[in-house]
Amino acid sequence: METEDYCFETRLLHNRHKVDPATGAVSVPIQHASTFHQFDIDQFGKYDYARSLNPTREALEDVIAELEGGVKGFAFSSGMAAISTAFLLLSSGDHVVITEDVYGGTFRMVTEVLTRFGIQHTFVDMTDLDQVKQAIQPNTKAFYVETPSNPLLKVTDIRAISQLAKEIDALTFVDNTFLTPQLQKPLELGVDVVLHSATKFLAGHSDVVAGLAVVNDDALAKRLYFLQNSFGAILGVQDAWLVLRGLKTLHVRLEQSQRSALTLAEFLQAHPLVEKVYYPALEDHPQYEIQQEQAYGAGAVLSFELKDEDVVRSFVSNVKIPVFAVSLGAVESILSYPAKMSHAAMPQPEREKRGIKNSLLRLSVGLENPEDLIKDFSQAFEKLAHNELVLQRGESK
Ligand SMILES: *Cc1c(COP(=O)(O)O)cnc(C)c1O
Repeated sequence: METEDYCFETRLLHNRHKVDPATGAVSVPIQHASTFHQFDIDQFGKYDYARSLNPTREALEDVIAELEGGVKGFAFSSGMAAISTAFLLLSSGDHVVITEDVYGGTFRMVTEVLTRFGIQHTFVDMTDLDQVKQAIQPNTKAFYVETPSNPLLKVTDIRAISQLAKEIDALTFVDNTFLTPQLQKPLELGVDVVLHSATKFLAGHSDVVAGLAVVNDDALAKRLYFLQNSFGAILGVQDAWLVLRGLKTLHVRLEQSQRSALTLAEFLQAHPLVEKVYYPALEDHPQYEIQQEQAYGAGAVLSFELKDEDVVRSFVSNVKIPVFAVSLGAVESILSYPAKMSHAAMPQPEREKRGIKNSLLRLSVGLENPEDLIKDFSQAFEKLAHNELVLQRGESK
């Protein structure tokens, strides 16, 4: 049996870097050296300088490539470093069609940095293929997809977009942060570059910032390697090791969190103080079918709307278990406020156009017992209901 035949959770542990060939160590050694002695003037070894290649980073790059089913992986100092470096595959005069409710940092990169280098963009609702087609220009060279999207959990038909891209010889990028290769394999659906904020589910413990990219084509791998080495936003070795360690438990973490996320989504959907729940595993989600078809699950992130900003403020001050913070995909549940956190880089009118209201909260479900989370949310809602009642009585006086 080859390691490729193992199930995903087995391959998280039993892959090419299961043991260190030099010592048998069952944890990838952290190689701090920045430079490597060359034993021959005519022929240099595989490693020469650590920006170009380092065995610890290389182990992580191998593992993520294998998990995504690609030929080569790349590790960067952050998700944004991975995304920004991938955008350097484009040139001045090129045009990108991009998901409108993209991660706030990607929005900022595309609108405020790439434009200065003559790379144009059009934001579209990627769930609407007609809109995508209409956005195509003679110089469209890439499609940038985030699915499920952030924070509204809209689902894009990855295969349809990569098909469109192939017809015009453009690249398709997919930010796979929310689902990871455990639940979604974009390369199998025709995508060219898979991107990750490994800060989230892959590392999973809120203790490292890292980014990854994977490609499925040798020529593209060469181009991206050239950019990684030229731009130099590589992942440090300690951080590479933390991601490698986090990856070993990805399957159990994500399974558990995903199961709890569905429980929470159903609880929230049934609650009278919740206006709307966004989660692709709910049957009334507009792209439920596509999600079922292209992914193995809906992940562990959901969003929900309360009545208004004041209600959000009061709810957030009353919940006790989730940390109220930026980020997602961690062992602890993280409640965040997209309008002022992940999407603060997006101006208010742009946010409103995209439906990212000031009454929206995003929840990344962690490993707590979901019943504890439900109890916690319930007591916060009860306080809200109580305040509302007091308010109403005051008004009617
Ligand atoms: C966090 C995040 C990023 C950016 O990653 P960093 O590691 O913070 O640079 C990109 N895309 C998505 C979907 C994210 O959640």
